[in-house]
Amino acid sequence: MRASASYIDGQWLEPDAGTTFEVRNPADTTDLVATCRQADADDADRAVAAAAAVTDDWAGMSGADRGAILRRTSQELGARKDELTDLLSREEGKTLAEAEGEVQRAVDIFAYYAEKALDVGGTVKSAGGPDATLSTRREPLGVAGLITPWNYPIAIPAWKIAPALAAGNTVVFKPALQAPLVGGAIVECLDDAGVPDGVVNYVLGSGSEVGDAIVTHEDVDAISFTGSAAVGTQVYEAATADQKRAQCEMGGKNPTIVTDSADIETAVDIVGSGAFGVTGQACTACSRAIVTTDQYDEFLDGIVEYAEGLRIGDGRAGADMGPHVSESELEGTLRYVDVGRTEGATLATGGGVPDDEAHADGHFVEPTVFADVDPGMRIAQEEVFGPVLSVIEVDDFDEAIAVANDVEYGLSASVLTNDLDQAHRFVDEIEAGVAKVNEKTTGLALHVPFGGYKRSSTDTYREQGDAALDFYTSTKTVYLN
Ligand code: NAP
Repeated sequence: MRASASYIDGQWLEPDAGTTFEVRNPADTTDLVATCRQADADDADRAVAAAAAVTDDWAGMSGADRGAILRRTSQELGARKDELTDLLSREEGKTLAEAEGEVQRAVDIFAYYAEKALDVGGTVKSAGGPDATLSTRREPLGVAGLITPWNYPIAIPAWKIAPALAAGNTVVFKPALQAPLVGGAIVECLDDAGVPDGVVNYVLGSGSEVGDAIVTHEDVDAISFTGSAAVGTQVYEAATADQKRAQCEMGGKNPTIVTDSADIETAVDIVGSGAFGVTGQACTACSRAIVTTDQYDEFLDGIVEYAEGLRIGDGRAGADMGPHVSESELEGTLRYVDVGRTEGATLATGGGVPDDEAHADGHFVEPTVFADVDPGMRIAQEEVFGPVLSVIEVDDFDEAIAVANDVEYGLSASVLTNDLDQAHRFVDEIEAGVAKVNEKTTGLALHVPFGGYKRSSTDTYREQGDAALDFYTSTKTVYLN
């Protein structure tokens, strides 16, 4: 697999030289997916130099030509869909259905930005007289440093790389080391699609060394980071201190409000799939169900039954919920289960590790529901990043909105209601970048802006759709007399 080593200035490095690390299947750690060559800060420097050397060439190419490369990349990804679906599931642990959806998203993102490359935007305005024109145009920033997490290992790299390239920037991409290969496959497809040397560089190194080298490099013009709030905050400070344009998308503590008028069966499906889909390892996962007193008991019974009905196991062998990506992520979730117990919440179901032969070699945890959760408890405030749902009882809709907003994060939020006034009030009052009515907190169409309020995002720029082109370009206003 080419992506088991870095790709710098159009060359794949030798896979088995230098320092190496292993990628193992989180559902079965005896399954070695690949041994990878680990890049260092020197590799990052060479990648930035390669990207900086060709900024003018790439920006000078017509949008149609750049778009043609992105379109071929989309086709290459599509042709490899089955293989990449299996790889994603094997290295990150998603079920095959989840993995297939994510690979298809990458295919669609490249197709979408292939069209956008033809016209990245600009306007013509009246200059007040017949002899002059007044217009705006978008110009690329230069070298974009892209740093991504492991939890959507092909979709998130795609939603950064494709718009960066469409807008005429060159790229230095660093994936997360826990699941790098399927993101690296995007670079393989770009290579096969004929992207010129230096335009895309893939540096397979750690965050503390390679990530930091990219963020602080003087020849990098923009940083787009997705990951935890702890790391993202540091990255943003370092990048902006250097006058780089920066965008950091971070964690969430996403609520779904279940109102008096919600249908309970539907509510259980929406909350259950939002909380336990992708093993709760989504920035937009529903981690708080805020339920009015009249609905509380019935909802709790339903969601416990939902959680207990999920088959946990290898996502490539038909399970409903796969493993955590790593031992350390599993331990993090189990620590929060202890925190919830100690804080006095009622463990309604789950909280343990399946104790049998079939699960012995994977990082599995049971889907977990805490009841009687006080909104101030740590399990109701902090991002767990695992399949742990806190169910919070409230008197009425006013209290539900107040509880939903009373956290540091503000990424995605939903309300389940048949009352149009409540739906409007929710949209007006919720402090979240994505507000949904009668829908789960996870998932969003690719052509609309995505990002969060408060600690979820640095807020100035959004990802996806045209918003991504705002981030990857500067606007120049032109007066032509
Ligand atoms: P993470 O630990 O913050 O890592 C994210 C990326 O940053 C990885 O590539 C990591 O490299 C790198 N990194 C670590 N330290 C760095 C440093 N000092 N300088 C530069 N880069 C550094 O996050 P994660 O565990 O991969 O992902 C889970 C988190 O991402 C959750 O909090 C989740 O909510 C968030 N997330 C947010 C969104 C969103 O759009 N808002 C989407 C998905 C996930 P290594 O490979 O060495 O770790």
